[in-house]
Amino acid sequence: MVEERPFSDFSYQQFLSEEKLMGSKCQKCGALFAPPRPICIKCHGTEMEWVEMKGRGKLAAFTCIAIGPPFMIEQGYDRKHPYVSGVVELEEGVRVDARIEEVDGSKPEAIKISTPLVVKFLHLGEGENSRTFLAFRPL
Ligand SMILES: [Zn+2]
Repeated sequence: MVEERPFSDFSYQQFLSEEKLMGSKCQKCGALFAPPRPICIKCHGTEMEWVEMKGRGKLAAFTCIAIGPPFMIEQGYDRKHPYVSGVVELEEGVRVDARIEEVDGSKPEAIKISTPLVVKFLHLGEGENSRTFLAFRPL
């Protein structure tokens, strides 16, 4: 698969809207980055290629957020209904920031580090305001 898109956050977002979690892989040293980077931070190589992640991983860290940005408040999240923001370590060994769905943000003690997760693409908003968010849910 040859993809001509630049290795940018914009492309990363575009792929998310197509339900693809993509990273960039350095062709020189094999380092993998998600979100993608145009230049390898390990060997400074600039020969990158797109790689699609399998979308499976485990919870590495999380925070329950009771007071979020306005677009989260509009989605019904507040002090009584906190949402969970986490870091997911993918099977490919890369860590991505994502929303963690289908867990109870008001009971952080019940959320376990290392929980196996699977990707879930959240399409929110309509028309020009639509946006896809990267989320994961327990497997
Ligand atoms: Zn490299």
